[in-house]
Amino acid sequence: MPQVSFATNNRQFHVELNERVKQYFKDNNMSQRGNFSLYFKAFFMFAVVLSIYYVLVFVQPESLLLTFTLLAIFGTFSAFIGFNVMHDSCHGAFSNNSNVNEVFGYSMNFLGAESRFWKVKHNVLHHTYTNVDGVDDDIFKPPFLRMSPNQPYNRMHKYQSWYMLLLYGVSVLFWVLWMDSQKYFTDKVHTTNLPKKKLADHLSFWITKIFYIGFYIVTPIVVLGFSKFIIGFLFYNFVMGVVMSVVFQLAHVVVGAEYADAQETGVLAIEEDWAIFQMKTTYDFCPDNKFLTWSLGGLNFQVEHHLFPKVSHVHYPQIRKIVREVAAKYNVKHNEFNSFGEAMRSHFKMMHQLGYKPVAA
Ligand SMILES: [Zn+2]
Repeated sequence: MPQVSFATNNRQFHVELNERVKQYFKDNNMSQRGNFSLYFKAFFMFAVVLSIYYVLVFVQPESLLLTFTLLAIFGTFSAFIGFNVMHDSCHGAFSNNSNVNEVFGYSMNFLGAESRFWKVKHNVLHHTYTNVDGVDDDIFKPPFLRMSPNQPYNRMHKYQSWYMLLLYGVSVLFWVLWMDSQKYFTDKVHTTNLPKKKLADHLSFWITKIFYIGFYIVTPIVVLGFSKFIIGFLFYNFVMGVVMSVVFQLAHVVVGAEYADAQETGVLAIEEDWAIFQMKTTYDFCPDNKFLTWSLGGLNFQVEHHLFPKVSHVHYPQIRKIVREVAAKYNVKHNEFNSFGEAMRSHFKMMHQLGYKPVAA
């Protein structure tokens, strides 16, 4: 893995931010982790997903429109479980009890992917080295997508803003059925070695995959037959893939976000404090939209999430006010889009720009 370091001589912004947020929780006598509203939301989202699975597989609605509507809700709410339950739990932010976080982190395994690999990919690589090419696996999607100005071009990238949604649609399936196995057999996430596997890691991986095949593939095939299963399975996965990918990409692959390159050199000294670098690589979107704030598990408050990943997302609207105040004091820009449309346009525009080689002056 390339060696990346951050400057440590300009830490006042980060230090004051940490103090202010700590003080906020102290003044309000509140835990930084999840609360009752999060636990109720988790219960509700699981209830929706399991009920729809039951209806689709065992009740089998006659109306095609109803079936596809349920499949779309099934895919969307599966992504919501990822955003609200899995993401907070894997960061240790769901509960004060680490065993509870561990158990709910397996909500990712319930969706088919191995949470142990994801903790390394996301908590360590993506959160520490956001938008650093060569380390951050989230922006490494060759050969089909060029997601950073430092990556090599190929001719199809010109069309990437057109076909990226199709790739997002198959991303979850690809992740569950291929990328996890690649990590398991190579013991690597992108350029980073995984710790040596213990018995628990082997068991977790195989139980997850056997459960996935049994629950999401074999049971519906046995009950519904192959042709009905495959249409529903691909459609539900497509919806989940698009929802998950779009929500994650709107934070970092947008016009104005900064990037760094550790790929070429293998050694990179970023001349900024880590917190300031996070402010430059990350965007919030729709901070006032109540439905998105409820459903996206704080992923529309990615600036606050990147600065305070161990704080549960239920607190981010309040934390954002503190971040904006401290950022204004230190003249650090707090990036955000006011509407979902604005964030989407910026992502499309950025992917379009990244697809074209600049003409030499
Ligand atoms: Zn995160």
